[in-house]
Amino acid sequence: MRIEKSGKMFVLSSPSGAGKTTLTKKLAQENKNFTISISHTTRKPRPNEINGKDYYFVNQEEFDGLVKKNEFFEYANIFNNCYGTLKKPVIQLLEKGKDVLFDIDWQGTKQLKEIKNLSIFTFFILPPDLKILKERLLNRHAGNENMVKERMNKFHEEVSHWNEYDFILVNDDLEVCYNDILEIIKNIKIGKKPRQDLNIVKKKVSELSK
Ligand code: 5GP
Repeated sequence: MRIEKSGKMFVLSSPSGAGKTTLTKKLAQENKNFTISISHTTRKPRPNEINGKDYYFVNQEEFDGLVKKNEFFEYANIFNNCYGTLKKPVIQLLEKGKDVLFDIDWQGTKQLKEIKNLSIFTFFILPPDLKILKERLLNRHAGNENMVKERMNKFHEEVSHWNEYDFILVNDDLEVCYNDILEIIKNIKIGKKPRQDLNIVKKKVSELSK
């Protein structure tokens, strides 16, 4: 990869329902230089999802074939489905100077951070409180109480990874959170790495862990 011209990688992770997918899509829609990395998954498409836009939906055999051929930058098993990011399309975008956005979990983020020579910055998004999180999940998985329960149970395990990230934000108000992320990215692009008050984050994490 030609590093001098290379774009940057920005990862957004969060517990399910904290809003990172909406934030990632908004960043890509409103900023021409961003492209979202489209993952492969063995999960079945949801009614509003489009193959090749939201994900590349593949079967287990196809996914395992890509793993065997070492085509993935990272991959993980989440809620009994496999998810992975292909190396080739990401490298092509970075080489063109494009910034790439990733909506992936903490396992994938950890794997990406271990790869040398990548310019990668990571964001962890927290929900404002557990009540709002449950409401968002109930909205998304209407009628599927089990899925809501499963995601609420997984919440604490996912939140425990917050300190593996560069920046931690609370998605209380979508516009505010979006502008905060954009401001951080703009600073990174001009070579500044903003500092964050970790005491506020620790307080929020401890509130959410009760
Ligand atoms: P969902 O099935 O709700 O679209 O996504 C479930 C979780 O998988 C989310 O936390 C999402 O960020 C994560 N995810 C999506 N694509 C990838 C990927 O390529 N790699 C990893 N590690 N996680 C992913």
